[in-house]
Amino acid sequence: MNIHEYQAKALLRSYGAPVSDGRVVLRAEEAKTAAGALDGPLWVVKAQIHAGGRGKGSFKEPEAGEKGGVRLAKSVEEAETLVKQMLGRTLVTHQTGPVGKQVGRVYIEDGSDIARELYLALLVDRQTSRIAFVCSTEGGMDIEEVAAATPEKILSFSVDPASGLSDFHGRRVAFALGLEGGQVKQCVALVKTLYKLFVEKDMEMLEINPLIVTPDGNLKCLDAKMGFDGNALYRHPDIMELRDTTEEDPKELQASKFDLNYIALDGEIGCMVNGAGLAMATMDIIKLYGAEPANFLDVGGGATKEKVTEAFKIITSDPNVKGILVNIFGGIMRCDIIAEGVIAAVREVGLQVPLVVRLEGTNVEKGKEIIAASGLNVIAADDLKDGAQKIVKAVRG
Ligand code: GDP
Ligand code: MG
Repeated sequence: MNIHEYQAKALLRSYGAPVSDGRVVLRAEEAKTAAGALDGPLWVVKAQIHAGGRGKGSFKEPEAGEKGGVRLAKSVEEAETLVKQMLGRTLVTHQTGPVGKQVGRVYIEDGSDIARELYLALLVDRQTSRIAFVCSTEGGMDIEEVAAATPEKILSFSVDPASGLSDFHGRRVAFALGLEGGQVKQCVALVKTLYKLFVEKDMEMLEINPLIVTPDGNLKCLDAKMGFDGNALYRHPDIMELRDTTEEDPKELQASKFDLNYIALDGEIGCMVNGAGLAMATMDIIKLYGAEPANFLDVGGGATKEKVTEAFKIITSDPNVKGILVNIFGGIMRCDIIAEGVIAAVREVGLQVPLVVRLEGTNVEKGKEIIAASGLNVIAADDLKDGAQKIVKAVRG
């Protein structure tokens, strides 16, 4: 689960990390008071969306001279104007895709003067199963280009969980970032704080870009992105409260209510599969035969008729779906139960597109009989290859 920058900064502040003072604004009327509560003489007005690249992003239907989701203002009035320009508009960045994201919240922050922009992130390194630091002297809005063109400028190392974090790690980060004198001490303290926060809140990712050095030589977190491990959220009701469901895909949100592992994709073949491995294999074979999956969906081992129905509704609510492939291995789950679920779902939500069903495993014959006897226009498949070929043919001709 991701949270907004202003929420991440509040967490950083509560742990003692250096961040600027700021106010979040949800309605245009609040802008003046919020900006007026900050000292000036510089204000930063920042669109809050769960995507990076806001500074270089652009609003849809831009008005003259208007660009970017991160803007500087020199007066309360100017800040107020910028908030009003951003609220409710759709911001497109390289991370949002062409559809963009609607701005429902704007953060106004005390502006900082910048001497250097650095990059510092913590993440779970799956290869070493450790928390890793990623640092670069080339922070700011072009970090993706730095990674592509000059990867040697991005340094990373991980922390041994047995010995834990020590000042040594902080100094290593400081030297990687080219810090000197008093900044090294500040960096050691910051690294400790970030690591503690990361571990205590079960984060997956914590990115400070840019971490700045101010002209008077102090470090400050100017931007903050945080992602939390969804499987650990039950331990963090305070973090769960920060969830902004308007940032999530409505289909994914609905799926999460029914405990379905669903991820929307942009292809045309809807997939209903049990087991994550089989779901991946199903997506692969659809691609192999020349089409694209519209989603990843694992209905789980213990899928009930209700769950199958809900999964069907979610798949058919996607206007991109031109055909559906149901690929179920009856292990814990019996094929006849699945067949009944599929038929109930089709009866309830209707079927406007071709449906291929491939069943295998426990009670497979009974399952096939139920589908054949249903009188519904279902194309039966014998195996995974057959199923994939049939649905691709039905959709693409
Ligand atoms: P992002 O584009 O979504 O990563 O948003 P950031 O919060 O990182 O802001 C983008 C850029 O705006 C930063 O890299 C800075 O160059 C600039 N910026 C952000 N806050 C300030 C500020 O307080 N003062 C100044 N001068 N520039 C800022
Ligand atoms: Mg940034």
